[in-house]
Amino acid sequence: MIAAKSYAVQNSKDKLAPWNFERKELGADDVLIDILYCGVCHSDIHQVRSEWFPSIYPMVPGHEIVGRITKVGSNVTKFKEGDLAGIGCMVDSCQECNNCKKGYEQFCEVGKTVFTYNGFEKDGKTPTYGGYSNKIVTHQNFVLHVSDKLPLDGVAPLLCAGITTYSPLRKWNIGKGHKVAVLGLGGLGHMAVKFAVAFGAEVTVLSTSPNKETDALKLGAHNFCNTKDATQVKEYTNYFNFIIDTVSAEHNYDMYLKMLAANGVQVLVGIPTTPINFSAFSLLSNGRSISASSIGGIPETQEMLDFCAVHNIVSDVEVININYINEAYERVIKSDVKYRFVIDLATI
Ligand code: NAP
Ligand code: ZN
Repeated sequence: MIAAKSYAVQNSKDKLAPWNFERKELGADDVLIDILYCGVCHSDIHQVRSEWFPSIYPMVPGHEIVGRITKVGSNVTKFKEGDLAGIGCMVDSCQECNNCKKGYEQFCEVGKTVFTYNGFEKDGKTPTYGGYSNKIVTHQNFVLHVSDKLPLDGVAPLLCAGITTYSPLRKWNIGKGHKVAVLGLGGLGHMAVKFAVAFGAEVTVLSTSPNKETDALKLGAHNFCNTKDATQVKEYTNYFNFIIDTVSAEHNYDMYLKMLAANGVQVLVGIPTTPINFSAFSLLSNGRSISASSIGGIPETQEMLDFCAVHNIVSDVEVININYINEAYERVIKSDVKYRFVIDLATI
């Protein structure tokens, strides 16, 4: 086994605190990575606190991982010692079903998607532990190549916030001529703005935080709408072709659906902890749709990272010492992060 250090919680009420544990042995298809940076996703907070469903404890959160490979197993062909590497929300899947073969490992048909933490390996009993840690051992097929041209702290959030917003914008072919709204300017939202702008769309940020207007425009958005101001909201009635909804908490779906033009789509990527509800009329008028999107598969994650390297896209980050993590969580909940906390693992 491989000795590792981490910050973990032991139950849903716990604060994150130092925890030593053992990683699985390096298998023939695995690589060993020294973690350099790990982003702090709102999903970490939902899961640490068992807000979606009862979580598995002890839990080492973190699925926005960037590091350097220090050892490779005997079958590894995709990486060598010294390579930069990224890991996102998944570390394995059956790799054989139709969806896995098509690159939709997050939809593994036999239910063997192995999440980076708060999950079990394919054996169904060995817990997985995430990136608030100094080391990780992962199957080469779930490790991404990372360019050395971009700052690594800003790359880490691409592994979840990046792919989760890139994927639906690509699936709905967002580009020139589209009016896109980004609902919620947090970790996912600020990446959605960057991608939608890069794809050529007209981008409007819908935000409950009027103090984020200057940043929204700096990120490339063309318009900003303070959704607490009914007059501003009304100006966008029947306006957007596409809304990417990154909100982490309960909100008023009817209000936002009414902002969609004919045949417009609202895609949910945010995962509030309570069931959503809205009136059928909000969809009936204008023939609107509501859909959702879950991270993105491994091939598309690599495509997104390569796109970012070419177009010089990274996350705007506040790099933190790992002992600041509990304060960072409180600030994320207050929407007080610009726009992603990233842990420097040298501080563990
Ligand atoms: P985040 O940084 O906290 O951003 C969420 C933003 O939502 C906030 O900055 C805030 O933006 C807005 N917001 C918060 N409470 C709100 C409310 N009550 N009403 C309206 N807007 C509100 O979180 P994140 O890391 O981007 O994650 C966002 C959500 O996506 C989380 O639920 C997370 O679990 C989920 N997620 C899903 C996937 C997936 O695969 N689908 C992947 C990763 C994360 P303003 O200040 O601009 O209003
Ligand atoms: Zn995430």
